[in-house]
Amino acid sequence: MDLKQYLESFSLLSEKDFSAEFQTHLYSLHDFHQNNCSYYRALIDNFYSENMFDHYEDLYSLPFLPVNLFKSYKLISCPDEEIFKVLHSSGTSGKTPSSIYLTRENARNQTIALSKIFTAFTKLKRPDILIIDSPDLISDRREFNARVAGIIGFRGLCRKSAYGLDSNYQVDLNSIEKFLENTTNQNILIFGFTWIIYKYFLQSKLPPSIREYLSKAVVLHGGGWKKLQSLSISRNQFNSIAKESLGTHSVLSYYGMIEQTGSIFMECEKGYLHSNPLASLICRSQLDLEPISIGNIGLAQVLSGLPTSYPGHSLLTDDLVEVIHQENCPCGRPGQAFLVHGRTKTAEVRGCSDTFRR
Ligand SMILES: [Zn+2]
Repeated sequence: MDLKQYLESFSLLSEKDFSAEFQTHLYSLHDFHQNNCSYYRALIDNFYSENMFDHYEDLYSLPFLPVNLFKSYKLISCPDEEIFKVLHSSGTSGKTPSSIYLTRENARNQTIALSKIFTAFTKLKRPDILIIDSPDLISDRREFNARVAGIIGFRGLCRKSAYGLDSNYQVDLNSIEKFLENTTNQNILIFGFTWIIYKYFLQSKLPPSIREYLSKAVVLHGGGWKKLQSLSISRNQFNSIAKESLGTHSVLSYYGMIEQTGSIFMECEKGYLHSNPLASLICRSQLDLEPISIGNIGLAQVLSGLPTSYPGHSLLTDDLVEVIHQENCPCGRPGQAFLVHGRTKTAEVRGCSDTFRR
């Protein structure tokens, strides 16, 4: 398994049908974790009959782990002493958090991957970033949750950064004005969690001078589906409200999870989330977990080409998705195009980005 080489081929792969290369890479990750994580091997031995995964013929027979296992077990595929960072999925929700163990190499690969996917979809190269969140979230680093991981991840791809909200989640006009005065960059990225942008930024009336500046920006948002649902607003509605109130043409969402940090799914110009050579998914029936065809809503099995320090390359989540195009999305990009429809009703609310810590 050569992840470095695979990452280097990202740009080339993302231009064509990458399914064969992705499948080979995922099975090599499966082999790697079988050899390096005794828990993973035991789980596979117990739950999969040999002939199920010995084919290596298609991705549907690739074994998957329920994502909640990371709450109960320390799943690692590297020596303990090589772990240098632990990501947690939840903070104060009272639920057990997932723990994701990273080596330096894995963390570095996450950064490289995020950069490649981000650039491929937005065409922005090192923009300045206006983060729609409170700076307190980052200074209080007791929790490294999805919101913090998102901010740190995207901030790392950008040149200058500033926060658009203050400690009380009020729009910080001083901070935004200073940011705009100091930016000579033609590219501005407005980034934040969807419901935070909606609740605290889009509801405020911005002065026309700021609005004019921000109208050229690209808005990138994601995370916290449950919270967005509780505000009774869909992603489509969010996109049009953001376009209208900021005057911007480009509003994109992304979908990803802390268990697969770095390999996110980005929204295309036609409004669908897309697979890419580092992230793909399989839609499975809620009744029997069999793969289901396009146009049907089922559970997302998410596949990532990145995890080497922990066996998180193939995870069954409680998110509901619908594949719209298996290939041939009208945007012209290769790979699947899909929509996320929130989470199963019975699912435990994940604390990660839905937990609002103030
Ligand atoms: Zn598309």
